[in-house]
Amino acid sequence: MSKSDPRKLRDVDMPPAHDAATRLVHGGRPAAAEGGRPVNSPLIRASTVLFDSVEAQRDARRRRGRERLFTYGSRGTPTTFALEDMICDLEGGFRTRLLPTGLAASTMALAAYLRPSDHVLITDCVYEPVRHFAETHLKAIGVQVDYCAADGGDVAGKLRPNTRLIYLECPGSLVYEMCDLPKIAALARSRGILVAADNTWGSGLLYRPLVLGAHISIIAATKYLGGHSDVMLGTVTTTEKQWQALQDCCDAFGMAVSPDDAWLVMRGMRSLSTRLARHEASALMVARWLGERPEVASVFCPALPTSPGHEIWKRDFSGANGLLSFALRKDFGVDAAERFANALKLFGIGSSWGGFESLVSLPNLRAARTVSDWSQWGPIVRLHIGLEEPQDLLDDLGAAFAALATPGSQTRAA
Ligand SMILES: *Cc1c(COP(=O)(O)O)cnc(C)c1O
Repeated sequence: MSKSDPRKLRDVDMPPAHDAATRLVHGGRPAAAEGGRPVNSPLIRASTVLFDSVEAQRDARRRRGRERLFTYGSRGTPTTFALEDMICDLEGGFRTRLLPTGLAASTMALAAYLRPSDHVLITDCVYEPVRHFAETHLKAIGVQVDYCAADGGDVAGKLRPNTRLIYLECPGSLVYEMCDLPKIAALARSRGILVAADNTWGSGLLYRPLVLGAHISIIAATKYLGGHSDVMLGTVTTTEKQWQALQDCCDAFGMAVSPDDAWLVMRGMRSLSTRLARHEASALMVARWLGERPEVASVFCPALPTSPGHEIWKRDFSGANGLLSFALRKDFGVDAAERFANALKLFGIGSSWGGFESLVSLPNLRAARTVSDWSQWGPIVRLHIGLEEPQDLLDDLGAAFAALATPGSQTRAA
């Protein structure tokens, strides 16, 4: 392709030596049009795509299963292609597929590689709706589903002759357990087993599962890539060898994303490294502060030296984000945790994370895990630390701890 070809993305020309933060700014740029070029990739919406001749259309249709061609809206437009290339570059993969949600990215990654009577091993700390998909759809089509410890310590003993895929999430959802991906990948590869990793926490910038030995990496771009709590999108990036199965499955199901949503995610990604650095600094400040509170039994945050798995985080990750959880002392009940969340003024009560704002939620770890036992712990509070001034957040948390000690204190609506 020539340099003026609109399908050719600028970042393909860029030396890979640039830091990811630089590539996030310069990647996915449009090629020159007559006269000049805009900074941002144009938003191209399409269902019908026109061809110069019947032969050209026939040729494109013949090639589109294997090559990325602009042939029909559901097969992607130059806007979605630009985002795919930015994410693929971050992940260090062969190609990237965009899906309507992070969950759709996870379920497509499972559906693409698993067949009836295959065995799949899933880490205990997996994002709960993925477990639901495994328990309902995968089991219904005859896939054998099994769970292993969040840190992957029991993987070797749980493999079967028909194990096809290990699906892990590192760090895990809700309390951020770490697992040794390079070790699991080496074991899996020696047995011809595929490894898929949910990389939403690391967002491609902090963690690169494909570079560490996984075959498939999944990101809920809804979180930090979008970064503004206003768009849903998921991505699956694979190695060259695993690409075709994913592509075929997504095409067969008619999976496509709106170019408007892809454009929003690309806009969010321009500031990803700056936002993550601020989320990380503020979350660490809050995590250290929480560690000193008498009400808190434990803080879950892999970037804290006292956290289990910190050594793996130091080895495999280039940074942290705004997520952390903590356990209240066992003498506090769920009602106390609810009082605490209700008393917070700057932390929104809502699902998801990765936007610019702080959030609080109260996950039920006893229900969310089947391999590990959380019945000995007090209530768990999950925080997403946003881009607010951290001292304001500490003041808000301090006031909520005061409310924790006072049954009957005001709820947010009062
Ligand atoms: C949120 C999340 C998903 C799902 O993303 P959606 O876009 O909300 O469907 C998947 N994995 C992890 C780890 C998540 O936190």
